[in-house]
Amino acid sequence: MPEYVSTRSTGEDAPLTYSDVVLEGIAPDGGLYIPKEYPSWSHEDLKALQGLTYEEIYLAVKSFFVGDSINTATQRQHAAAAYSPEKFPEAENGNIVPLRELDKNLFVVNLSLGPTGAFKDMALQPLGQEMDYELRRRGKRLLILGATSGDTGSAAEASVKGLDTIDLIMMSPEKGMSDFQQAQMDDLEGGNIENFAMQVPFDNLQKIVKEVSKELGLGAVNSINWGRVASQIAYYFSGYLQAIEASGKTIGDEVDFVVPTGNMGNALAAYLARKIGLPIRKIIIATNENSTTHELIQTGIYRKNDSRITTSPSMDIVVPSNYERVVHDQLGNDPDRTSSYYNQFEESGLVDFRDVGASSNLLTKAGFDSGASDHDKRIETIRWANERGTLIDPHTADAVWVARHQGGEEKALEVPTVCMETALWFKFEPTMEKAIGDLPERPERFRGLKNVPGGFKILSGMVELKEYIQEKQRNQL
Ligand SMILES: *Cc1c(COP(=O)(O)O)cnc(C)c1O
Repeated sequence: MPEYVSTRSTGEDAPLTYSDVVLEGIAPDGGLYIPKEYPSWSHEDLKALQGLTYEEIYLAVKSFFVGDSINTATQRQHAAAAYSPEKFPEAENGNIVPLRELDKNLFVVNLSLGPTGAFKDMALQPLGQEMDYELRRRGKRLLILGATSGDTGSAAEASVKGLDTIDLIMMSPEKGMSDFQQAQMDDLEGGNIENFAMQVPFDNLQKIVKEVSKELGLGAVNSINWGRVASQIAYYFSGYLQAIEASGKTIGDEVDFVVPTGNMGNALAAYLARKIGLPIRKIIIATNENSTTHELIQTGIYRKNDSRITTSPSMDIVVPSNYERVVHDQLGNDPDRTSSYYNQFEESGLVDFRDVGASSNLLTKAGFDSGASDHDKRIETIRWANERGTLIDPHTADAVWVARHQGGEEKALEVPTVCMETALWFKFEPTMEKAIGDLPERPERFRGLKNVPGGFKILSGMVELKEYIQEKQRNQL
């Protein structure tokens, strides 16, 4: 069973269990928790997954990371409840992550059929249950502070709604979220859930939330929480098996995955699937106009840029928090090198791999590649997919554009290329309408959400947020 340590750990603190790190979120030293070991699977192991349901594949992958921190029967219960037919009513023949073919060798795996129409449900559904289970066992209550650039908000709220072990405060940037996303969060507000906004870009908000969480010992639902990453790895296995079957290949043949990227939680899950032994040739990161991560992969230079608001708002992130886990792994699991890399980034706003004795192509050697999309490309791609009978959302469109234009130009795809569908189209109706005109009706369960008049209550900054939470903590004693 794996033990967990922080990416910046000096080795003095005791290693933690899966349940510990799920409740703790960010490490006290400011690093992110990672397991000390990973499983290693052969092609034979992959063959054994063929024909299994998603839930079974998920358990096969996830149980390694949970170990005996949660007993097997309970892990099964959590999975069954997280991925139930009630929560995934549009599953296709029981498949909750169905694959569709868009073009020769070009596939989309739909990860967004869950309760809030977002791929974040895939990880947040089990996470809420795991936290609740562990809090009950310890007789504790947890205050969670989150930051959302779009879908984490509603997916986290849907996951912990009504639990009496958890209070959730969700912070949004004042601008950037779609009306639909705000309406979803507003709909879930009440009881143990509160929404606030702050007039800062998402990256700044994320930094504030990290700092306040660390200082006040709060829980986390952002992908800095290891539990989220651990639950996301499984859908790469399912996507791989489906793509291999759909393209008439055999297990062991390589595929590319294209990931619409913000905080790099999803791309990290792909990286770990590859590390475990899934035959992934390339993990292709798709960014929007906020192309920091694309430049980082291509040049080895990580630069602090200002973020812009775009029409794929959940990717308006220029400080991808999960990159720390990737870079730590690539720097030989060396906490000193990781710390010095991040200290330099904090101090000068720019860090080069050569500054820590690594080569500029460290990330491409590790299997990453990248491309950047923009508004016009996104619109063109939504239109292109629609002509092929498929509606894809603006974030998925960024991935599909990057998949079709590797190296910047349109080329035939050499290997099966699977784009991750991270949200359903109707969460971004104004952009969809611009691309294709009249829109079909939303699925039944998503009709009738109303816009939030005036948005969420605004907190002025870190000081007001901290005071509000401390007041809440005092009242709970
Ligand atoms: C969160 C989100 C992303 C980015 O995922 P990361 O794991 O943060 O890289 C992309 N698209 C949508 C729709 C999202 O909600």
